[in-house]
Amino acid sequence: MPSSAEPMSNVLETDICILGGGIAGLWLNARLRDLGYSTLLVERGALGGGQSGKSQGIIHGGTKYALHGKLTSAAEAIAGMPDRWRSCLDGKGELDLQNVRLLSAHHYLWSPGSLLTNMAGFFASKALRGRVDLVKGADLPKVFDNPRFKGKVYRLAELVLDVPDVIRRLAELAGDSLVVGSLPQVERRPDGSIDSIGIGEHLIKAQRYVMTAGEGNEGLLQSWGVEQPAMQRRPLQMVLVKGADLPPLYAHCLGNSPKPRLTVTTHPCADGQWCWYLGGELAEQGVGLTPDALIARARSELSELLPWIDLSSCQWTTLPVNRAEPAQSGLVRPDTAYLQAVHNVLVSWPTKLALAPDLSDQALAELERQSIKPMLDQPDAQLPRPRLATPVWDICFP
Ligand SMILES: Cc1cc2nc3c(=O)[nH]c(=O)nc-3n(C[C@H](O)[C@H](O)[C@H](O)COP(=O)(O)OP(=O)(O)OC[C@H]3O[C@@H](n4cnc5c(N)ncnc54)[C@H](O)[C@@H]3O)c2cc1C
Repeated sequence: MPSSAEPMSNVLETDICILGGGIAGLWLNARLRDLGYSTLLVERGALGGGQSGKSQGIIHGGTKYALHGKLTSAAEAIAGMPDRWRSCLDGKGELDLQNVRLLSAHHYLWSPGSLLTNMAGFFASKALRGRVDLVKGADLPKVFDNPRFKGKVYRLAELVLDVPDVIRRLAELAGDSLVVGSLPQVERRPDGSIDSIGIGEHLIKAQRYVMTAGEGNEGLLQSWGVEQPAMQRRPLQMVLVKGADLPPLYAHCLGNSPKPRLTVTTHPCADGQWCWYLGGELAEQGVGLTPDALIARARSELSELLPWIDLSSCQWTTLPVNRAEPAQSGLVRPDTAYLQAVHNVLVSWPTKLALAPDLSDQALAELERQSIKPMLDQPDAQLPRPRLATPVWDICFP
């Protein structure tokens, strides 16, 4: 019997305990619940408040990884993702995402001048048919409908989602499985496996634990005393431009390197205005610049690329943010979603929002391989539920 001075531990037993409520954890949670597993997902802050809510929401089909004129393994691994997400949006996929807000049915690619002939040939090739289509005239996005625009525009078989709305829907699908735990403690058994996760007076015991805490996986692995898999961070400094009359723009701008010179997505703010969110090389090269210096560079890029768009009354700011991924030699981008089983834990990073379904496939396959079946009823956690993160455009422009 514990003495009256010791706090009583309330043990919650569940099939699967997921740590981290970004796209990876919430997607997997919804799939597991659908398959009859009992789950508890522990989020230390707000749902979607990590990288997911700061992402551009592009459901890539891999074209951005083919900008040097070849289809790489990265481009191929991700090629099926747009169709998979689309069928969820249509209510015919593995998760019902009907009513989730689609920001753009297509992402585009534009070259400000004439395209190098080898790239034009590659885009027109059989390998990319249906994935990259030249658009002209009335099919051009409105933002390019200006006599001063001399470049070429391609429509990609990729879509752009309102990520806060995706998170809202996945939180709905999570039912009563979400709990907030600001400082979850990893309790370790002598054999190195996880015994339980402590949240205040509560202990969660599960058949398997899944780490989907993004950048937070590093701290979880440290507190568990496990060194592998190691994590890498690839930093960005994004630029945000807010205005009442910004036209919608969802596109990569081609530059002179295999990476997009600029990637622009457009997001709704709570006050009815719109925010252009600028990534690509601008954000990679912006790391280490002062916000003022980066904003000056972004202004100059936009006035060179889209001089007919009046941005004089817009507000500008920047957002430093890290991409957290499994460590690779040379800090390159991993090609696919990543999942590794360590003792009774699955450690994972999707490496792309678009790859969350692929990560869930890997997790389910690993549970199957380990013969982990649904066994327990959903516990009555009676713990506070995490809130949805405020969209980043509303945090950055309060
Ligand atoms: C600027 C930017 C733009 C991007 N754009 C795109 C894009 O357009 N398309 C695309 O496919 N990918 C994009 N990505 C990549 C994509 O955002 C990430 O790969 C993906 O969101 C990672 O999801 P996640 O669930 O693993 O991590 P996160 O979204 O970071 O979620 C992790 C969660 O875990 C929680 N957490 C942390 N530590 C703990 C802990 N100890 N206990 C419990 N919870 C914890 C955090 O609070 C957070 O909510 C972008 C990334 C960035 C940075």
